[in-house]
Amino acid sequence: MLILKGTISQMQIQLRGWTGSKNMPKKGPKVVVIGAGIAGVGAAGKLLTQGLTDVQIIEASSQPGGRIRGSLFGKSTIDEGAQYIHGASTKNPVYQLAKEHDLLQETHDRLFPNLLQKLLEAIPREKLLLKKPIKQIQWNGSFESGGSSVYSVRVVCEDGDHILADHIIVSISLGCLKANGQAFFQPRLPEQKLSAIQSLGFGTMNKIYLEYETPFWDENTDVIGLVWEDETPFSVQKPNLTEWWKHVPVFYVIRPTERYGHVLVGTISGKEAEFVESLNPQEVASRCTYLFRQFTGRSSLPELKSVYVTKWFSNPYTRGSYSHISITSTGAMIDQLAEPLPQATEGSSSPMLQVLFAGEATHRSYHSTTHGALLSGWREATRLIDHYSTK
Ligand SMILES: Cc1cc2nc3c(=O)[nH]c(=O)nc-3n(C[C@H](O)[C@H](O)[C@H](O)COP(=O)(O)OP(=O)(O)OC[C@H]3O[C@@H](n4cnc5c(N)ncnc54)[C@H](O)[C@@H]3O)c2cc1C
Repeated sequence: MLILKGTISQMQIQLRGWTGSKNMPKKGPKVVVIGAGIAGVGAAGKLLTQGLTDVQIIEASSQPGGRIRGSLFGKSTIDEGAQYIHGASTKNPVYQLAKEHDLLQETHDRLFPNLLQKLLEAIPREKLLLKKPIKQIQWNGSFESGGSSVYSVRVVCEDGDHILADHIIVSISLGCLKANGQAFFQPRLPEQKLSAIQSLGFGTMNKIYLEYETPFWDENTDVIGLVWEDETPFSVQKPNLTEWWKHVPVFYVIRPTERYGHVLVGTISGKEAEFVESLNPQEVASRCTYLFRQFTGRSSLPELKSVYVTKWFSNPYTRGSYSHISITSTGAMIDQLAEPLPQATEGSSSPMLQVLFAGEATHRSYHSTTHGALLSGWREATRLIDHYSTK
């Protein structure tokens, strides 16, 4: 066993000279990371800073970040996805990074984009391919490049390009795996992994942003709660999606007003959240105006200036918001989802660690969060680094 210790440049030299497998070319391993959300960016950054230089990230969208995304709305930028750091603990790497880079006092929209920028600094721009959706991952193969090199994995992009790799880290959402899982992988995934993908939960939570010219709330109000005294949405057996507005129990006032203007944000989950994506903004605006007029008894309440509804369910590169352990699943299924391919079998000569899995849904304790996603990316990068450093 060879333990590599020393500087990054020494380690790079060792890795380039590695000749451990008959399928592996005499060069450093080539790693492709699929998806430039915080998990993928974290994985690529760790690989690059730890000495694996041949790393490429392939991202379907026109920008990195995935479910960390801001949009212009009103006077400023609002968060479409992640907004809060869950858990102010030094064990939370997102909190720790935000602290190190002096971002804890930043407004929400500046916190996560800035944090992502800090992580992206470890990745040279040419290593990030944007607007490159992939449509298939072919693994357990023997794909020849133009030269003498042979690779076990071939990534087929929607534009027809083929990218070869020794290892890929798949960090696309569980929603995308559910929608495309079978056709996405060739050969198809082992039954246990497919079953984990289908059984684990992936739900939708959307945000509804409302902008007013003049606020109808006073300056001390932070939260506006809507309490339905005669019924509770949870007592309704069959959901009536057209009454989606009963499922937005609370609106928060976005502060500071000088930066955002007079903006409220409400959240909506489940089937109603999916349904609201099909409505045009005008319909959402007039329903919210009606609701506030009804609850306050003030028919003179102002009309909205603008409205913005996130669409995480219809986004083809997320297909929902985040994962959960549904009643049909167990925590062990998260580990099955995270298990690399091919699975170790006695006597198998296939190169190991061809397809690795990262992303929030693969973290057993912190799934559904940004720190779970980041930790999962680091976990898979470390798996590869350890694989080579113990050869
Ligand atoms: C509305 C909402 C609110 C949230 N609030 C919080 C919060 O307050 N705090 C918190 O910690 N977390 C929050 N989260 C969760 C957090 O945003 C996610 O857990 C985290 O960002 C997921 O990161 P990821 O890298 O695993 O996945 P993603 O960010 O989804 O990254 C996956 C990437 O893969 C790309 N991709 C998908 N398909 C393909 C393809 N075929 N080819 C190439 N690329 C592809 C996607 O475009 C995406 O960039 C929230 C999420 C949502 C949606």
